[in-house]
Amino acid sequence: MCRHVAYLGPAEPLDDVLFDAPDSLERQAFAPQQMHGGGTINVDGYGVGWFPGPVRYRRAGAIWADANLRQLARTTLSTAFLAAVRSATTGMPVVDGACAPFTDGTWLFSHNGRVSEWPESVAELAKTLPVTDLLTMDALTDSALLWTLVRRRLETGKNPADVLVELTKEVVAVAPASRLNFLMTDGSVIVGTTWTHSLWVHQDEESVTVASEPLDGDPAWREIPDHHVVIADPSTVEVRPA
Ligand code: GLN
Repeated sequence: MCRHVAYLGPAEPLDDVLFDAPDSLERQAFAPQQMHGGGTINVDGYGVGWFPGPVRYRRAGAIWADANLRQLARTTLSTAFLAAVRSATTGMPVVDGACAPFTDGTWLFSHNGRVSEWPESVAELAKTLPVTDLLTMDALTDSALLWTLVRRRLETGKNPADVLVELTKEVVAVAPASRLNFLMTDGSVIVGTTWTHSLWVHQDEESVTVASEPLDGDPAWREIPDHHVVIADPSTVEVRPA
C-alpha cells in the first residue's frame, strides 16, 4: 500500500521529508515499517505537490531513481506540501497519472488503500458523476475515481472532513473490504482519514506533519486510531471517530 505525508509550517526544503529524514518517503518506498494491509514496497510511482501553487510533480517508477526530483527538492522551500509513493494495486495501470497527489484548484489529495471488488462495486457511485468527469480522469484507478468524487463534493462548499467521511461510508457500504486512508491539504489545513491503514501525526510549536509512518524516532509522533478523521494545522490537531 502506498505511503503519504503532508506538512504545514515554516518554509522548509522538500528534501528533508522526501529524502533526508531517517524514515524519509524515499526510505518508506523500499523499507516501509507499517504496510499492514498488503504490498511490500512502493516503487510504482511518486509525487509531491507544494504551495504556493499548488505545483505538482509526479512520475511512475521508483522515487530513488529520479535525480531531477532530488535536485528540485533541495532547492524548493515550501510552507505546505503533500507527497506520496505508490504501490499499484494489482491490475491498476502504472502511469504518471495514477500517482498522487491528485489536484484541483487549491487541493492536493492522496489515497492509500484500494476499493474492493473494483470496479463493479462502485459502478453506481461512478454514475453520479458527469460523463465528462469520467472521461477526463487522470487514470483508470480506484484512487482517481475517489478523487473525482471528492473534488465534485468539495465544490459544493461542504466541509472537507465531512466529504471524506461520507464518501468512506458510501464506498464501504458497497465495497466492504476497501481500505481508505485519505490525505488532503489546501495549504492551510490537513485532513486525513484512517480506514485500515496506519497514520501518524507530529506537532511542534510551529508545524504539523501527518504521515503513514513516522519520519524519525521522535517520541512526539502519535498514532491516529483506525476509523478516525484528523483535521490538523500547526496550532490545532483534532482527531475524532469517522
Ligand atoms: N489503489 C491505489 C492505486 O493503485 C492506491 C494503492 C495503494 O495505496 N497502494 O493507485
